[in-house]
Amino acid sequence: MKQLIATAISLAVLGTVPALAESMVITPNGSRPSAKGASAQFTGSVILNSLYAPNDSMSSSGGHVTFEPGARSAWHTHPAGQVLIVTSGTGWVQEEGGRKREVRPGDVIWTSPGVKHWHGATATNSMSHIAITNMVDGKNVDWLEHVTDAQYRN
Ligand code: MN
Repeated sequence: MKQLIATAISLAVLGTVPALAESMVITPNGSRPSAKGASAQFTGSVILNSLYAPNDSMSSSGGHVTFEPGARSAWHTHPAGQVLIVTSGTGWVQEEGGRKREVRPGDVIWTSPGVKHWHGATATNSMSHIAITNMVDGKNVDWLEHVTDAQYRN
């Protein structure tokens, strides 16, 4: 009985202990507004959902990008490379001089620094991916010309 009371008292005390200082940061879904992909950099309808920005100890930024069928990025390069993680749908990726390749949820695509490429949905299905892109001197992409319909359908 004495022990039960002691336990009850310690639980009561624990319940009133102020929360410890926490350093983990949770940015809730809904706190980061969606944006449309600019027509200078994308063809078709593209929605950009920012996930995180670089900080003092991490040089990458993260975003979740959704392409409607037929939509794709322009040709571009990344000064420090990029990881894409496909989260839904069916998409195409292509590097200059390479073949167009189909990607599906769970596929992870690494593009080396300076490699000219594009990514987007297939002609018939939407595709979403997470993009993790390293920053160099505040820049993570160099945009080039649009992917023509002939290039896209090739
Ligand atoms: Mn890219």
